[in-house]
Amino acid sequence: MVIILRCLICNSIYYEKRDLRTLFRTKPSFRCQSCEKKYLNVCRYETIPIERFLLHRYYFFEEEVQFTIDAFDDHYLLFLQNTLEEILKNGTLIIVESLSDELFQVLDLLKFSHIYVYCLYVLKI
Ligand SMILES: [Zn+2]
Repeated sequence: MVIILRCLICNSIYYEKRDLRTLFRTKPSFRCQSCEKKYLNVCRYETIPIERFLLHRYYFFEEEVQFTIDAFDDHYLLFLQNTLEEILKNGTLIIVESLSDELFQVLDLLKFSHIYVYCLYVLKI
């Protein structure tokens, strides 16, 4: 049996073979093999001081891209598994497609906790 999937980055169709052992496998797949190799380990992390707190920024690209953050949902789930406890204790989580200068200026004014921003791309701050 073959499962037909569409890559959320390049929009191409790709296939996953299944047999009786893997027929009901629930491992998510959002990228074709080519995009998987191209964007392997592209998630970046930076800490930026803001008024009295820190802004922890997780992002994939430094410029605008034409696909959605859904293409990295598996990264997002892993990110939450590893950081959710820390985030709940120390701060606020914000998930956005992009972190623009305008949004950064607003976050800088909040002054109530550390802020964890998970986004697909950032525009230079
Ligand atoms: Zn692709």
